[in-house]
Amino acid sequence: MHSPLMVYLTLICMSTVFILFLLIYVFRKRHNYSEIAHYFLLYTAAIGIYCFGAGMALTANTLGQMKFWTIIQYVGMPFSAPLGLLFIMRYLGVNVTRAGFWSLMIVPFITLFMVITNDWHGLHYRVFEADPVMGMPFIYQEIGTWYAVHGLYIFSCMFVAFVLLLSKWKETARAYRPQLVALLFGQLLPMLTAFLYLIGVTPSGLDPVPMVLWLSSVLYFWAISSSTLFAIMPVAKDIIFNNIKDGVIVLDKSHRLIEFNRAAKNSFPLLDKSMYGMEFQSIWLRLAGERFPVELASMGLHEIQAVIGHSERIYQISASTMKHGGSSEGLLLIFTDVTELKKLQQQLERQAFYDELTQVYNRRAFLRQCEEDFAEAMESSAPFSVILMDIDHFKAINDTYGHDIGDQVLVHIAQICRNKLQEGQIFARYGGEEFVLALKGCTVEKAEQVGNELRSHLQLHPLATGHGKISATVSMGVAQSTDGSLQQLLKKADIALYAAKQNGRDQVSVYTKIMESIK
Ligand code: GH3
Ligand code: MG
Ligand code: MG
Repeated sequence: MHSPLMVYLTLICMSTVFILFLLIYVFRKRHNYSEIAHYFLLYTAAIGIYCFGAGMALTANTLGQMKFWTIIQYVGMPFSAPLGLLFIMRYLGVNVTRAGFWSLMIVPFITLFMVITNDWHGLHYRVFEADPVMGMPFIYQEIGTWYAVHGLYIFSCMFVAFVLLLSKWKETARAYRPQLVALLFGQLLPMLTAFLYLIGVTPSGLDPVPMVLWLSSVLYFWAISSSTLFAIMPVAKDIIFNNIKDGVIVLDKSHRLIEFNRAAKNSFPLLDKSMYGMEFQSIWLRLAGERFPVELASMGLHEIQAVIGHSERIYQISASTMKHGGSSEGLLLIFTDVTELKKLQQQLERQAFYDELTQVYNRRAFLRQCEEDFAEAMESSAPFSVILMDIDHFKAINDTYGHDIGDQVLVHIAQICRNKLQEGQIFARYGGEEFVLALKGCTVEKAEQVGNELRSHLQLHPLATGHGKISATVSMGVAQSTDGSLQQLLKKADIALYAAKQNGRDQVSVYTKIMESIK
């Protein structure tokens, strides 16, 4: 046997052994792997048969033997390209139906049939005989019509698989990219060799593809054993990752973007895979137009407000440092959109502390807010006054104009008082048609003045309604605290208010001890 032939044979044997090893390796571990492994097994079996046939063909002494081993090669080779394509499709998550599977197998079956029956029609090989110069096992061949169809078909399958892999480059997580490179080269190698063979660059009379398939097998083996290609866990993790309702963003230790899930994309539509490797600070600047508080976030739970698109959102960010072997490998940011929750919370808080009709503090909120101010004032012996006000003849307003207009009068008076409020004053609806005003640091004289200013302001601004202008007046009771409790102070103001009513309404009365005996 001449020495180049020995080299060819060695290479092909190497390919066969490698492929066989790969086949056994994946077969034994198939239970740990996803369904992708089944396609890979079929693919590997097909190229294994092809290589075995090619190796045996090199030992052929007669044309009959050569034809036999060529048929064996064709039991594998025409099927390997579409099976490779199917395997890549499954790996990339493309669904393959049973019908799709079998339709891809039609051409390979016809090819096999054509090769078996070639002696009768010559459609695959027009001429197939021993090379007149080199003799067996070198073959002189002229290709037939079907050979062209078959060549084009397997080439297309390999090409589509290659392009599919390439198209997923951008959206493949960095961690999975070495697998992708291995698969890309595993596909590219036989494709390139087949191309060189077809254009006649490789030594004539021999198919060089089986000689390079060992290298593809090595690449595949590396991809399977060193990384997690085929493994179920990455697939499961991917599914979980993308189905979490919260946005998850993974940063490396320099706070550069590594990965994000579907929810993060939904929350921040400008987030794009092209941003992989970019610093998260500048990404967030693009997404929300502001700096991201990485320092704060990395300390644990943190709340952030951001305008995304045109809507203002509130996110609760939980940050976890990803540790690997003791050293920090990066940061995991989980964004929980709490906007609706916050709105509801604010609404409930408003309902608890604000009067629904007038939107000023209610009695409970007033007492809560006041207690602190009152205690402070008592401690520092500072003056503290309150004004209790009651709308005059409000029942008559309701009776004359109806309850709705009555409501409008309440809102109107509350608004006027609120607009006049000054620093340190607390205003609230005390009950029905009664309001209260606490004046921190005010003496009773100052409070009386404030009361009269409010009264005259009300007179100047009657409520305009469909029934004409309604000017409601109010009576006020003023009291200043010297000692005792807030409740006692309010009681005094109430006594003063009663006096104001008694004295003819629309006036401010200051509490005096004598009033107590009148009430
Ligand atoms: P006075 O000058 O003595 O205070 O007479 P008044 O009619 O204002 O007092 P009275 O206590 O007899 O009547 C208060 C009325 O206020 C009775 C009640 O129906 C009405 N009122 C209480 N809350 C509301 C409210 O939220 N909306 C409306 N429209 N009326 C209310
Ligand atoms: Mg009243
Ligand atoms: Mg009243």
